[in-house]
Amino acid sequence: MSKFEHYNIVLKDLNNEIKTLEFELDDAYFKKIDSPEVQRGKVNALVTVQRKLATYELNFKLEGIITIPCDRCLDDMEQPIHHKEKLQVKFGQQFSEEDEIVIVPENEGSINIAWFLYEFIVINIPIKHVHPVGECNKTMVTKLKKHITHQKGDESEEDDILTDDDDFSNEDTQTDPRWDSLQNISDNN
Ligand SMILES: [Zn+2]
Repeated sequence: MSKFEHYNIVLKDLNNEIKTLEFELDDAYFKKIDSPEVQRGKVNALVTVQRKLATYELNFKLEGIITIPCDRCLDDMEQPIHHKEKLQVKFGQQFSEEDEIVIVPENEGSINIAWFLYEFIVINIPIKHVHPVGECNKTMVTKLKKHITHQKGDESEEDDILTDDDDFSNEDTQTDPRWDSLQNISDNN
């Protein structure tokens, strides 16, 4: 049986009542998902499922925290997760996903939400996520700053060398018009 069996929602047996499900997304869940972005966390996911004619409406409410490395100092930081999402699910021939509509195979009659839950968590992570001001690991920040400055220094040296070479080759093959006019001036004097 699949390691995500617990996140499988059988839709075909649902009547018109709203079904409420609750999931605790903890370290074990993130370990099973096995994605590098988030490896630890504690997020509560409340899922309601309601059949509306041929469509099943899934509403998700995620609340909690995840632990991810800070962009500035690389130490762990806590990222709060508050997320609401809605999915429309329909039966069809094979699995497909388009905007908010998910098609699941009719012969299975169920949807597995393990990966959807993970996606909803990941879109909550800001592109730049850092500790609040003053809470970064100071030793690490100092080390990183030195490292970055050093790297930049090396790069600009290389750039300078390349630029010099370019200038030389330019001088060899063609004359700078500004240089011509300067020469004219000196010739006239
Ligand atoms: Zn930090």
